[in-house]
Amino acid sequence: MEFNKSAVVIHAHPDDTEAFCSGTLKHLKDKGFSIAIATMTAGGMGGIGMSEQKTIAVRKKEAAKAAAVLDAPYHCFGGRDGYLFDTEALRVAVIDFVRKHKAGVVLTHLPFDYHSDHRTTAQIVEAAVMLASLPSVPCRAKPLEVTPLLYHTAPLGFSDPLGNPIAEPHFFVDITKTIDTKMDMLAHHHSQIELMRVMHKMPNFFDEMKKYNIDLGKIAGVKYAECFWQHLGGGFQKDPLLQRELADVIRKLKKIK
Ligand SMILES: [Zn+2]
Repeated sequence: MEFNKSAVVIHAHPDDTEAFCSGTLKHLKDKGFSIAIATMTAGGMGGIGMSEQKTIAVRKKEAAKAAAVLDAPYHCFGGRDGYLFDTEALRVAVIDFVRKHKAGVVLTHLPFDYHSDHRTTAQIVEAAVMLASLPSVPCRAKPLEVTPLLYHTAPLGFSDPLGNPIAEPHFFVDITKTIDTKMDMLAHHHSQIELMRVMHKMPNFFDEMKKYNIDLGKIAGVKYAECFWQHLGGGFQKDPLLQRELADVIRKLKKIK
């Protein structure tokens, strides 16, 4: 089966894509993939000393600049930060986006991520990917010939909503050669430095993200890593496309087959 070399990434908030998978996206871009980045919300609650509307305007600009590092378009679906619901309108909008970019691969949060907006995003995206190739869906773009492959990115802290450890990732990606691009992308999210300092007591958000990738790298046996799960449930394609395309930078734990 042929999958388009087009990766569509949909997370809940601006900066999620940069934080969780931009090192891997840079590898994919270098291997000829086109990238499109979208968020369900513009992160309107993520401002300190700014109104929600002002924060939305600032964060959309930051996200667009970060995406531009990979020559990727950025789109916001207009959900409200902290109040994201799975609606028919959002599902149709996501289907339209996935079709418009002729996605071969779609990446989103894990279904059991720690953040409720992330979990809702995962649910919307999973449903939309399943419907992307069906002709009866009421959306403008033409159905895809093949249902895209769905992958999940890691939650911060590596735990489920109750704080339990999460299932082992299906694979790690060595991002040692692309960490600089990742940091360049993150650096566009100026507004989050102050937010993370106040909300999560992170003195420097960017350094913390780098440390997160170092910690994952220690598990994977490389300097910096990101990790992923492929959505292998019923109704989904199971071709290991990303694992094949990224073979030179994929790392697996010994006990993972
Ligand atoms: Zn988020």
